[in-house]
Amino acid sequence: MSQEVTAQNVLYEHHIIFKSCARCAGDRQVRRDFDGFYIACLCCGHVTYPVVETSETVRLLEWKYAS
Ligand SMILES: [Zn+2]
Repeated sequence: MSQEVTAQNVLYEHHIIFKSCARCAGDRQVRRDFDGFYIACLCCGHVTYPVVETSETVRLLEWKYAS
């Protein structure tokens, strides 16, 4: 599922993305768990997964391709 946050290079945990929810146009917050980042709407609970790769996953991918 594509996301509209691709303009952002870095995601910060607990960062609020205002009025960006596709379902209710509410504010969403960046969160992370052991699987990585996800973005949850504070208003309706709608969860999406950003396409943006964190520096952490980029490092992992570089390591993967280099090996
Ligand atoms: Zn919402």
